[in-house]
Amino acid sequence: MTVRAGTLEIIAGPMFSGKSEELIRRVRRAQIARQAVQVFAHALDTRYGENQVRSHDGGALAAVPISSSAELEARLDPPAEVVAVDEVQFMDEGIARVAERMVARGVRVILAGLDTDFRGEPFGPIPRLLAQADRITKLEAVCVVCGSPAHRTQRLVEGRPAPYDAPVILVGAKEAYEARCRLHHEVPGRP
Ligand code: ADP
Repeated sequence: MTVRAGTLEIIAGPMFSGKSEELIRRVRRAQIARQAVQVFAHALDTRYGENQVRSHDGGALAAVPISSSAELEARLDPPAEVVAVDEVQFMDEGIARVAERMVARGVRVILAGLDTDFRGEPFGPIPRLLAQADRITKLEAVCVVCGSPAHRTQRLVEGRPAPYDAPVILVGAKEAYEARCRLHHEVPGRP
């Protein structure tokens, strides 16, 4: 039997740009087409609780929580024709090879994640995945300050823009994230 070539699709953008919505939409369509679909989400994303991909507008999808690319590969269903992963920016660099192996076996791989972190810097394994991708969808949010298209995620700690060198996790601090355009994206201390 000839193995059909798979594809690697990336859905990237800042927070609130509709990445989860778009992932859910593509997965639903694959399910309508009666394809075998498996959905994963990084276990670090505890915004909405376990075992689900959820979008900010309320859409939800059952997902297998994973914390590494090795765990993803170990938990793959061999018959899966479509594999979707949300919050892929949190994955280790090994996800690039795991994605390549799935694609080589004919799987349609759909990965969604933040392209940049709160500093505006490329996030984790995303640059390599973008280079490997067959198809890239770069989504825009709406800047909460001026209403322009937003490509950045603003991190606020106690209501103030988080400085460039702020630790990723600040225990006990009240944190928030907003979508902002380049003009209104503030990162005090950015080189
Ligand atoms: P992502 O996965 O990229 O964080 P979601 O799919 O979870 O995005 O959520 C997208 C939804 O968030 C939009 O359809 C809209 O209803 C809502 N939303 C809230 N704030 C904003 C904003 N600033 N810009 C765009 N959409 C927003």
